[in-house]
Amino acid sequence: MPLKPDLPEPESVQKRVGLAIVGLGKLSAEELIPAIRTSKHTRVAALVTSDLEEGHAFARAFDLTDEDVYSYDDFESLKNREDVDGVYIVLPNSLHRDYTERAARMGKHVLCEKPLSVNAADAQAMVDACRAAGVQLMTAYRCQYTPHHWAARDAVQGGKLGPIKLLDSMHVQVEEDAEAWRMKLDLAGGGPLPDVGLYSLNILRFVLGTEPEWVFAAQHQPKNDSRFREVEESVSFMLGFPDGIIANALTSYGAHKTTTLRVLGEEGSALMEPAFTYTGLSLILTDKDGQTIPAFGSYDQFGLEIDHFAERVRDGKTPWTPGEEGVQDHRIMDAIYQSARTGGRVQLEKYAGQDIFRGEKPQLPE
Ligand code: NAD
Repeated sequence: MPLKPDLPEPESVQKRVGLAIVGLGKLSAEELIPAIRTSKHTRVAALVTSDLEEGHAFARAFDLTDEDVYSYDDFESLKNREDVDGVYIVLPNSLHRDYTERAARMGKHVLCEKPLSVNAADAQAMVDACRAAGVQLMTAYRCQYTPHHWAARDAVQGGKLGPIKLLDSMHVQVEEDAEAWRMKLDLAGGGPLPDVGLYSLNILRFVLGTEPEWVFAAQHQPKNDSRFREVEESVSFMLGFPDGIIANALTSYGAHKTTTLRVLGEEGSALMEPAFTYTGLSLILTDKDGQTIPAFGSYDQFGLEIDHFAERVRDGKTPWTPGEEGVQDHRIMDAIYQSARTGGRVQLEKYAGQDIFRGEKPQLPE
């Protein structure tokens, strides 16, 4: 019998894939560690943090001991921990590369938070390091593991909406703290674009299953607001996909929290609002026969994503969102910034297609 109707029946603790969580910030504390505890195949085996005292408090709360807590300088000690199969990197973006390369050298698999890095070159170096070491690298794109986003993709790719013509998406929120790492170019790699605008970019590519051929973008960086000394406040970008399909996206750190995705075909549409929140996602499909609001049982996006990683660690197969998927988004974001800087449309290099890198589709809950 499951422990609770909504929770998967976990494997015995010893059999689960052991993860070291690297970085104990907001996402780790509030979402990831709780999600791992309710996941089917993973367990928290170690914590890596700058604040050992805080780490010990976490350890006590999550049935670990003080010996399971490591400082960043002591990261390499994880090599001797046979019960640590992989690391989950949840640090500011520019640190992802260093910790990924160090984990690969220890022979540990890597699940890395989005964005994979701060530009395409660094992201590609991470892919190369993990390939050379023979370890998995998965980009933590939680929205590619939800039944809602898959239902939108299936409607689009299954022809339910007719030929697709236009898409739009917004991911906007207010960032108030001028001192946050997200506002520092060397740590974040950009402003709202790599942080929240990336969700729009990634899911637009995911629902269509094709790659943009060109981008065109504009950005705004106010001169009189101390929050935006280093990064932009807002970006608007347009993506040109094959067959004349055009997508528009807006992202900002300066306006009220909004997350949307809309796909318009000749015969119908798909609307998600909210489209990228942790819970409460909504999908409305409209076609020739009227409107449908698909219903799904409750699920934890992070738990589904983390369990997929664990399955791929076990079977040695490529994950659904491997490192290459993160590299491709960086290539496009690099081009978006180039377009915003130059004011011109930027042609993207032809990309052989996302499915040549991807592994099998994730298992979705019933
Ligand atoms: P956070 O600021 O809450 O935590 C960052 C952690 O990194 C902290 O533990 C901090 O101590 C540590 N750190 C180490 N070196 C640091 C340095 N030089 N400067 C600042 N912090 C340093 O950030 P977060 O919101 O947990 O984000 C961490 C990562 O997770 C980012 O890559 C972010 O994009 C990603 N993220 C993903 C989602 C998602 O839904 N998938 C949501 C939020 C954040």
